[in-house]
Parts: sequence; C-alpha cells; structure tokens
Amino acid sequence: MANPSRVAVIGSGISGAVCASLLAGKGVSVTVFESGRGAGGRMSQRRETMEDGKELFFDHGAPYFTVNHHEVMSLVGSWEAQGLVAEWKEIFGSFDRNTGKFLDFEKEGLTKKYVGVPGMNSICKALCREPGVETKFGVTVGKINWLQDRSLWSLTGLDREDLGQFDGVVASDKNITSPRFTGVTGRPQPLDISSSPELAVMSQDIPVRSCFVLMLVFREPLLSIPVKGFSFKNSEVLSWAFCDSSKPGRPCLSPDSRVCS
Ligand SMILES: Cc1cc2nc3c(=O)[nH]c(=O)nc-3n(C[C@H](O)[C@H](O)[C@H](O)COP(=O)(O)OP(=O)(O)OC[C@H]3O[C@@H](n4cnc5c(N)ncnc54)[C@H](O)[C@@H]3O)c2cc1C
Repeated sequence: MANPSRVAVIGSGISGAVCASLLAGKGVSVTVFESGRGAGGRMSQRRETMEDGKELFFDHGAPYFTVNHHEVMSLVGSWEAQGLVAEWKEIFGSFDRNTGKFLDFEKEGLTKKYVGVPGMNSICKALCREPGVETKFGVTVGKINWLQDRSLWSLTGLDREDLGQFDGVVASDKNITSPRFTGVTGRPQPLDISSSPELAVMSQDIPVRSCFVLMLVFREPLLSIPVKGFSFKNSEVLSWAFCDSSKPGRPCLSPDSRVCS
C-alpha cells in the first residue's frame, strides 16, 4: 500500500483501535468493523444490574496494563492527560495456596499500573470516535477477498452482505484468522481468508488458549485481604484476583462502600 486512502480495520480492541487512530491521524479514511456492541475487545467492560437496580461494572478482560517502552509511555501520557486512563495506586501481592498466606507485597508505584477510566474500554471507545474513524458495531466480517483487477480488498459480512472495498485491511484479532477458534462463548466464526492462501497458512500456527473470568460481588468489603490485586502461587486453576472497585474513577456503588466487585 503506497498511499492507501481507505482502510478497513477488523476489531475494535486495543490493537485495532490504536491502529485506526494512527492511520486516521495520517489522513487515511478508516472504517472499523466490530462484531460486538461496543469498542474494547479483551479490554471491555461489562455491566450487570442487581435486583435493587444498582449497576455493577466489571473489567472482565485485562484488569490493568503496564508500560515499558518510551513511545508507548508518551501515548499513555496523552491518554492520561485526556482523563482516559489513570494510575492504579494500590498494594499488590501474591497468595500461596499451600500456606494460605499473602506474600511478595509490591511497593506502591514500583511498577506503574494503568487502568482505563471509568472502564478499561474507555481508551478504545475514545480512539474509535476520533476524526477520520468510522465504526460499525454489531458487524462481523465473514470474508475478505482480493480483487486482482482493481487492486482492492472486498469485505463481506456473515450473511454475505457487501461491506465495501478498501485499499488495505487490518485484521487485529489473532482469533480472527485462526481456524482453531470456532466461536466459543458466542464469539464470531473465524474470518474466511481462503482467497489469500499465504495468510491462511500463516494463521494456522497461531495458538489460542482459553481462559475464564469470574465476576464476583461481595456485600461486605473483604477486609482480611491486605491487597487489591494478587496472583496465585501453587494453583493450576487460578491466576489472579483483582478488586475492580478499588480502581480510580469507578462509580461509587454504595455510599458506605459495602459493595465490592
Ligand atoms: C482475563 C484477561 C486478562 C488479561 N490481563 C492482561 C493484563 O494484565 N495486562 C495486559 O497487558 N494484557 C492482559 N490481557 C490481554 C489483553 O487484554 C489482550 O492482549 C488485548 O486486549 C488484545 O487486544 P486485541 O486488540 O489484539 O484483541 P481483542 O481485544 O480480542 O480485539 C479483537 C476484536 O475483534 C473483534 N472481532 C473478531 N473477529 C471479528 C470479525 N470477524 N468481524 C468483526 N469483529 C471481529 C472482537 O469482537 C474483538 O472486539 C488479558 C486478557 C484477558 C482475557
């Protein structure tokens, strides 16, 4: 692509959203296609309404992120200035299942942890609204075809509807192209890229590992836990636990802070 003027980005997770924003900043007209209802992908936020009408919010993908590259740091700095992210200043540690003890307390601020505000999806939402980015939610791209005669990519939806033609296509989610991924938990079927055999072969080797997230709410604060996030030692099942309501910028769930998610 020497001078692409129209690019389709498949997926509005962090990689698709950042890519769309960078391309749009260079004057490219970008259309983001997203199967889900909103932006975020594995950095999305889930809303649940309790019986009494209270709303609960969970970051059910990445709980936070760290930065170790100066270019990314400057990008994150600009998001921080816009109020899209904030540092999560809490004490973290680990929990040894064998001894039942918390250990390895990490000093506040040793490794800066950032979260989206008010939810992890805030970054992707904002990037997908930037000038030059058009986002189509609830649209799953089913197939991409290379039109040799016109040097364009043609996209079709799951019901074979025409989604347009583009100079370039960015498939942001590795699951998009992996034939091993077959729509677990209602996610879309893998994208048909059979018209590009080279891509299809490359994508076969991308491993996919499933994981599950439990979203739990407690009526009382868990005072016996001395940290707001911890990893598990000596557990083959559990990896981490985090207290979402301790993150900055989360809506106050109850005045006495008795509800903790
Ligand atoms: C539980 C959990 C904890 C994590 N913890 C951390 C952490 O602590 N720190 C960290 O840095 N990372 C963490 N990660 C990883 C991080 O969340 C992901 O690496 C990152 O969000 C992936 O972004 P992405 O844009 O590549 O893909 P995704 O976020 O998966 O976005 C891909 C998007 O493409 C859409 N899509 C797929 N197929 C199609 C199609 N055919 N048509 C249209 N749309 C389509 C999907 O709906 C999705 O929204 C965690 C992930 C999980 C699940």
